[in-house]
Amino acid sequence: MNALSKLPSVSHLLTHDRIEGLVQAHGRAVITGLIRDQLAEAREAGRNGAPIPDESSLIEDVSAAAQAQALPRLCPVFNLTGTVLHTNLGRASLPEEAITALVEAARNPCALEYDIEQGGRGDRDDVVEQLLCELTGAEAATVVNNNAAAVFLLLNTLAHKKKVVVSRGELVEIGGAFRVPDIMKRAGAKLVEVGTTNRTHLRDFAGAISPRTGMFMKVHTSNYAIEGFTHAVPEHELATLAHEHELTFAVDLGSGTLTDLERWGLPHEPTPRESIEAGADLVTFSGDKLLGGPQVGMLVGRRDLIAQIKQNPLKRALRVGKLTLASLEAVLRLYRDPDRLSQRLTTLQQLTRPEAEIREAAQRLLPELQSALDAWPVDVEIVPLRSQIGSGSLPVDRLPSAGLAVRPQGRSSGVLNRLEAGLRCLPKPVVGRIEDGALLLDLRCLPPEQEPDFTAQLTQLDLSQTPTR
Ligand SMILES: *Cc1c(COP(=O)(O)O)cnc(C)c1O
Repeated sequence: MNALSKLPSVSHLLTHDRIEGLVQAHGRAVITGLIRDQLAEAREAGRNGAPIPDESSLIEDVSAAAQAQALPRLCPVFNLTGTVLHTNLGRASLPEEAITALVEAARNPCALEYDIEQGGRGDRDDVVEQLLCELTGAEAATVVNNNAAAVFLLLNTLAHKKKVVVSRGELVEIGGAFRVPDIMKRAGAKLVEVGTTNRTHLRDFAGAISPRTGMFMKVHTSNYAIEGFTHAVPEHELATLAHEHELTFAVDLGSGTLTDLERWGLPHEPTPRESIEAGADLVTFSGDKLLGGPQVGMLVGRRDLIAQIKQNPLKRALRVGKLTLASLEAVLRLYRDPDRLSQRLTTLQQLTRPEAEIREAAQRLLPELQSALDAWPVDVEIVPLRSQIGSGSLPVDRLPSAGLAVRPQGRSSGVLNRLEAGLRCLPKPVVGRIEDGALLLDLRCLPPEQEPDFTAQLTQLDLSQTPTR
């Protein structure tokens, strides 16, 4: 008890020079709270017979806790996983044009729902609707929080208490919790499955039509591929059959991009324009997958149907904010000039980065990483790699890439886990992947201008460290 009574009071500690500095930096409320926490811990330790920390070590602990708390949780990282559109790492990185636009919108009032010409109230979709129509060939468009929301809103508006016919081969789960059958149920639509996993025919759809049928839906099987003896009904056939029976035909494209990727030697990914031309009444797709923009879900298609969707009260609950619209507008504008798209759209820049250029980056970084790991029982070498597009786009296709592989000397595989953790604990965490007994750093998504930041922090690599975030 005696030792405990020697602990300084909160008010005494607050007069200490060092603490005053911390108060300046972090605010009185935060530092007072941390002092209380440290004192409570010290009392608890004292009651359990452990030594009581002295004043200077208490202050040290308060300072360390304040610094740890001040680190942003949403910190930037180096994505060296080899997956360009990594959902856990925030998918697409925005192009400069979009960053500028969103910063301006953040700083200033803007014409979000204000018709500058008429001087009256406008609709926030007006910011991008015309661009979306131009780029997809659709009559009308609207934007919501993400593609899952777009699909949900579409079903809830147009197929509530109605039957929606979908091929069994397309009842997919898309990462996390997006499962087509679950979304249908929550949206109040009744799923009717037709065909088999690998083959579905037009007659399967025709045979499923009943008085309560409201819609045919096609779902792009983004994250997996069925190969071999397969058949899916082409969109134009589904559209024709749907329209003969006065049904709506909707396509959930998932990724979807607004231009033909084959132009850059990438595999073909279906575009909303193709679906609209094939007769789809509505198409939904994501903003932050191949499109390379912010997280949004876009619905494009028939004017009367988009108007109904906009009138659903849930549209208000799923709408996007001004930062998102500002950056989306800027990204869509880039698509108006396909000739310069691969230089300006970050995602496309990353996807089209030549293997030879990535290999040169590996050559520049090899000696840096080798010297940082000098004292470690590991070997570092340049290896050919294959990057993935990610986010369920083009699941089978891989892009030739290059990077650095760290392998343990001998059989000490624990060193790889420590290295992986050490890289994660750097000021700007480095995320790679462990595969086949090696830590792989795919350099596709490390732009040359960020290489100095990457190498500078390697000297801080502390391989005994455990993650603090
Ligand atoms: C990714 C994807 C979704 C979900 O889109 P989010 O933008 O992640 O909400 C829905 N459907 C398909 C086919 C997808 O690929």
